[in-house]
Amino acid sequence: MTRTIDKVVLITGASSGIGEATTRELVAAGARLFIGARRTERLKALADELGENVAWQELDVTDGAAFDAFADAAAERFGRIDALVNNAGIMPLSMLASLKRDEWKRMIDVNIHGVLNGIAAVLPRFVAQENGHVINVASVAARIVTPASSVYSATKHAVRVITDGLRQEHNNIRATLISPGPTTSELGHDVSDPNIAAWIKQGLTAAQSPFAIAQAIRYALEQPDNVDVSEMVVRPTASP
Ligand code: NDP
Repeated sequence: MTRTIDKVVLITGASSGIGEATTRELVAAGARLFIGARRTERLKALADELGENVAWQELDVTDGAAFDAFADAAAERFGRIDALVNNAGIMPLSMLASLKRDEWKRMIDVNIHGVLNGIAAVLPRFVAQENGHVINVASVAARIVTPASSVYSATKHAVRVITDGLRQEHNNIRATLISPGPTTSELGHDVSDPNIAAWIKQGLTAAQSPFAIAQAIRYALEQPDNVDVSEMVVRPTASP
């Protein structure tokens, strides 16, 4: 196999959708992968299928200590860490007037604190080794807001500015924002308002494959150390 990515890469949210596709894409490019999510039976099945270059550990990204332990386990398993793909995210959209405070909090916890916990888990290593790459999966919602997406868009706007702040703070560490448009996955399956669930289903009729995003992540990882692909927006041609 020609290794185009001779790196150890951590991926969160690898139990479905974009994270699973990225795991498949990167292992095919020669990367060693340490993958995490809460649904461990799915991680195990994926690792068993893909072989010894994929290892897994249960991870709830909202738990900072668990994320530190996840990174430690990855370094123990593969000897180093070169990149982190902060992909885990949730999207229980709702109108603000529905006052779904629990869903607001969960979105902020997973989509913002989860990304920050990931950065905290790898940044000391990246600073010490004067090299490293954080790839954050945001969304087209990182630049726009629509009815029902206020809180989700706010979390993705936050991921965008955190990513660019990280990039500016370190000369040797790469930071990449990947912003997908509608993509086939399990995202939004936890939407509790039936009207909004129907609207999401409609929006996904022209969705792109999660491998479109996986290939964008692969491209960012394949660049030389001194080239930072800062941002990519990848959306279906039929997307507004
Ligand atoms: P999926 O729902 O298929 O995947 C989401 C992943 O996040 C799952 O693997 C899930 O794993 C994981 N996850 C959720 N909560 C946690 C948690 N607390 N700790 C660890 N892992 C968690 O959706 P996508 O693949 O589409 O989503 C991936 C990313 O892409 C998200 O950040 C999403 O916002 C973004 N995105 C997706 C778009 C789309 O149209 N699909 C468009 C724009 C952005 P588990 O439940 O096993 O923990």
